[in-house]
Amino acid sequence: MRWISHIAIAASVCAVFNPAAVPAAVLGSTAPDWFEFLQRAARPHRPVKHRGATHYLAGWAAAALFALLVWDWRGLVYWFAVGGAIHWFCDALTVSGAPVGWWSDRRVTLFGGKVQTGHPSEYLVTAVVVFACAVLIWQRERAGGDGFLPFFYDWAGLYHSGLVDGLEWKTNRFRLF
Ligand SMILES: [Zn+2]
Repeated sequence: MRWISHIAIAASVCAVFNPAAVPAAVLGSTAPDWFEFLQRAARPHRPVKHRGATHYLAGWAAAALFALLVWDWRGLVYWFAVGGAIHWFCDALTVSGAPVGWWSDRRVTLFGGKVQTGHPSEYLVTAVVVFACAVLIWQRERAGGDGFLPFFYDWAGLYHSGLVDGLEWKTNRFRLF
């Protein structure tokens, strides 16, 4: 997949759970590819396989587990690793697939690997994910979420914290501003 799709998908999934970590997820979502560039730059005389070691799902999953269980900094390490795992899932949707781990050269494809990089199918998948995440975020905001979208006025939250009475909440709950 193109970077624009990797970035859009990882950013919107991360925004649903942890908006502050979106930059880390974006970095992570492109990391399997730029790690590859770094590998090539470090060893110019040895060929580096595209979608090789930097694309192992096992590696990114292990990094995410490490962040969850051992050490993390404000969730950023975790979301960087999740970004990498999301990259794997996106690549696995494509015709050429992505490798699960170092024990096998075989590449896995998901849902038949129907997506072709740069083709409309790629942008369709990206659009569906971004739209679904946007709906989730919007719904949660309406239900009185944690209020990270400051332009949605949090009437339900004000009601629950006793600042406005029931009538005021009822008359204003469908007002977005
Ligand atoms: Zn890739």
